[in-house]
Amino acid sequence: MDLTEFLNKEQFSSFVNGDFVSSKNEDTNNFISPVTKKAWKSFSLASEQQVQTAIEAAQNAFFQWKITPSPVRGMFLRQCGDALLANKELLADVMAMEMGKTIRDGIKEVEYSAGFFHWFAGEAERIYGLTIPSQHIEKRIMVLKEPIGVSGLITPWNFPLAMPARKIGAALAAGCTAILKPASECPLSGLAIAYIFQSLGLPPGVLNVVIGDEKKIGKALLESPIVRKIGFTGSDEVGKYLYAQSAPTLKKLTLELGGHAPFIVFDDANLERVIEGIMISKFRNSGQTCIAPNRMIVQEKIFPEFLKELIKSLKEIKTGNPLNPSTDLTNILHSSASKKVKKHVDDAVKKGAKIEYEGKEMCDPFVLSGVTENMLIFNEETFGPVVPITTFKTMPEAIMLANRSQYGLASYLFTENLTTAHIIIGALEYGIIGLNDGLPSSPQLPFGGMKYSGFGKEGGPSGMDEYLVEKSVSIRI
Ligand code: NAP
Repeated sequence: MDLTEFLNKEQFSSFVNGDFVSSKNEDTNNFISPVTKKAWKSFSLASEQQVQTAIEAAQNAFFQWKITPSPVRGMFLRQCGDALLANKELLADVMAMEMGKTIRDGIKEVEYSAGFFHWFAGEAERIYGLTIPSQHIEKRIMVLKEPIGVSGLITPWNFPLAMPARKIGAALAAGCTAILKPASECPLSGLAIAYIFQSLGLPPGVLNVVIGDEKKIGKALLESPIVRKIGFTGSDEVGKYLYAQSAPTLKKLTLELGGHAPFIVFDDANLERVIEGIMISKFRNSGQTCIAPNRMIVQEKIFPEFLKELIKSLKEIKTGNPLNPSTDLTNILHSSASKKVKKHVDDAVKKGAKIEYEGKEMCDPFVLSGVTENMLIFNEETFGPVVPITTFKTMPEAIMLANRSQYGLASYLFTENLTTAHIIIGALEYGIIGLNDGLPSSPQLPFGGMKYSGFGKEGGPSGMDEYLVEKSVSIRI
């Protein structure tokens, strides 16, 4: 069976200890595609016993995987990345059916996901330790880096392939074994990764994918002393819960949580690049991304021209069926996102914001000007295609507005002035900064936030450190 045949099946189950486990007598989730509104696939939900078996399988596989030469670990990852690229359209189609992402965005997500497997394939071979000169003549000291152990990976619905890829790539490259719990709404992309690894002959237990109830699976992963690490992407509410519940077993965590990115535009900015930056950062995945700019902070002089050019570009956007390859913006927003878009727009308008542009539906682009700090949209992550604009006069005002958020994930800055750029980069309380760049995430660059956006990095050289522990060795000669 190839990947196409696998994904064309009707029924799916968890992947435990190298096999897709029997689904008899278990709870089943019959999935309705948000696009066709028809029954699509069914997923049997992992039983408590299957989750425990997955944890034990990961533990049993750990000791062998840890000592598997790193080029061999890297080879599995590289081949998985290649397999993703060879099946771009197929996987984009799955994501479109799972959560309504456009085929265009889906193909980019597959490429982004493959990039993580390729990046970590290389990083597997670069787990350097240290030797440090000792203060004692008779001693030699060194630091070894080793995999932390069994890792629980929990991912959200908005990037069904990329979030699992970013975590599995780092964990397996480091020599950890893993249990992935993908979002209940979008489990198929995670199972596709499992299927690819099974076809490549990855040893049983190295990667397990458990489908189902977040409480049951979450509880098992959190309570188990075998699980040494939790890699999580999702909301800050759930992130804080996982942090607290990991304390009794002292697990290490990476928390990639929500964001509320400012997008600062100075009078001297190159407007063409600004608009290009907004189009890619705000409308990718219809604004349902943690790094989507949610607060346009625009200097007063450039504002009229900025608004004119923005609206001109928005008029060219084609909203429609995500399965149609020429659709720019999906007509399927997540149910929670469309509710929030409406709530935020209504609240802003009630408090004095002006609608500068609006479509027919919640899934269409919206532009609001005159947004102020007392509005919900200025303070909460929107997760939708709304562009709220606040204007400013001076640089200190821009910095104050940009940092006025509990989140600290991504931020954007558009200026042609080098001094302004350096001052703002220094002042922004954000883990990621795009300077004249609307797409600052790439497998090579550490990705992660500050404040309520969480801690730890995914991707880049430091992405591996999250799955490694240091062993300090002192030798008396
Ligand atoms: P979510 O509700 O926090 O869910 C994320 C994952 O956590 C899902 O797999 C969910 O399972 C699981 N989960 C929920 N409650 C749990 C519990 N008690 N124990 C264990 N697992 C539990 O987030 P979401 O709505 O899917 O995703 C949207 C959020 O993710 C946004 O805030 C967005 O900003 C953030 N995000 C952040 C990044 C980043 O890199 N910083 C990237 C993408 C998204 P179920 O699906 O079964 O409920």
